[in-house]
Amino acid sequence: MKIVVVGSGLIGLSTAYFLAKSQHDVVVIERQSGPALETSFANGGLLTPSLSDPWNAPGVASKMLSWLGREDSPVLLRPKALPSLAVWGLQFLSESRQVKFSRNMARNVRLAQYNLTVMDSLAADLSLQALEGGRGTLKVARDQATMDHMIALSGILKDQSVGFEVVDQHRACEIEPALVPIRNKLVGALFCPDDGFGDAHLFCQRLAQSAKALGVTFQFDTSVTGFEQASHGVSAVLTDAGAVAADAVVIAAGSYSVALAAKLGVRLPVRPCKGYSLTVPIGNWQAGPKMPVIDDALHAVVTPLGDRLRVAGTAEFSGFDTEINPHRIENVKRLMAQIYPEFMAHYDEAAAEPWAGLRPVSATGVPIIGKTTVPNCFVNTGHGHLGWSMAAGSGKALADVINQTPPAIAIADYQP
Ligand SMILES: Cc1cc2nc3c(=O)[nH]c(=O)nc-3n(C[C@H](O)[C@H](O)[C@H](O)COP(=O)(O)OP(=O)(O)OC[C@H]3O[C@@H](n4cnc5c(N)ncnc54)[C@H](O)[C@@H]3O)c2cc1C
Repeated sequence: MKIVVVGSGLIGLSTAYFLAKSQHDVVVIERQSGPALETSFANGGLLTPSLSDPWNAPGVASKMLSWLGREDSPVLLRPKALPSLAVWGLQFLSESRQVKFSRNMARNVRLAQYNLTVMDSLAADLSLQALEGGRGTLKVARDQATMDHMIALSGILKDQSVGFEVVDQHRACEIEPALVPIRNKLVGALFCPDDGFGDAHLFCQRLAQSAKALGVTFQFDTSVTGFEQASHGVSAVLTDAGAVAADAVVIAAGSYSVALAAKLGVRLPVRPCKGYSLTVPIGNWQAGPKMPVIDDALHAVVTPLGDRLRVAGTAEFSGFDTEINPHRIENVKRLMAQIYPEFMAHYDEAAAEPWAGLRPVSATGVPIIGKTTVPNCFVNTGHGHLGWSMAAGSGKALADVINQTPPAIAIADYQP
């Protein structure tokens, strides 16, 4: 079958790779000049079943109200984005009821756990050990309420067989000695030895190479503008460089999937949520960290990537604006200083690389994977803050759906 995949971020590439593995003739159409140059470019680098809780946790409405208008808040709501959030926002809030939240989190954990299995199977093919990463994350708490919340959520992790250890501040600093300078600010942490981390962009480049070797054709610098439809569904994908005939199409264009799917009458409850990262050379900081540290209260993660350190975080609903706001970058830098104050003596401002990307956030907090109401049109999007944590698993599962092979996970849980 000739299948066109729209988008070459983490999700489109993973889907294309597994479709090519099952002998399909795959064409990836991407508007950028190479793979993973938008949201999958400089994310936090985590593969974390342990962070599978959707952002719309119980109590999110009052928290968001208290953050309104605060430039330094973890979640910022820009007034210009409000109209586009109206219907989506109501669903987002209604999914924050405890029963729904727990169900949605369990779905995310299952997919993220499955993803780690699929990533292991990819390791040999892509030389994953060279992705500047490793295993293990530490999620630290600065107050008892955060710690209690973490312990409460860990019940769902336990139910889904995610390995973790609840540790006090001393043990946290044994696991990650780079935290010793802030030991007295910590109450405890959740250590997840099976979580992974690395450079998602490097992963995408390797995946694109492997996909090419399997026969996938990449059409870069090409924007999809619409679809040609026949009685059986989509017959061609229309681009600014002409039409590409297709037996089936997969829309994996991150937040932009919504507008593309709408051209086929398919409504996707996904909205963009901007986040920032700052990547800095570690330089001669000898006491550098060996694993990512997630600071729940600050909504930030600092991840070691070989000779670089990356801080990522913050969430801003401001539509499709990807401009890098210097105030938000200063905020991210402050978060880094709060986690690793000693590093700031080595911080090289001139070499720091700021970046912003749009997380495709679904109203349920669970990605949307599967067949749409148009018979030969499939979607794979809405992975929010968990795109790499779920990419390989989502790509494999959707390839199974298209091949009419039962996926290893309950795919109905992610149905559009
Ligand atoms: C600050 C930040 C930190 C994050 N940290 C983590 C983390 O640590 N772990 C984790 O798992 N996730 C993390 N995420 C989330 C993760 O990066 C995303 O979920 C993931 O990158 C989404 O991948 P995607 O393929 O859906 O979207 P994208 O990477 O955006 O890919 C979509 C592609 O579609 C292309 N496209 C769009 N429209 C068209 C069109 N009309 N024609 C042709 N091409 C088109 C775009 O150019 C783009 O390349 C983070 C996100 C942010 C912003």
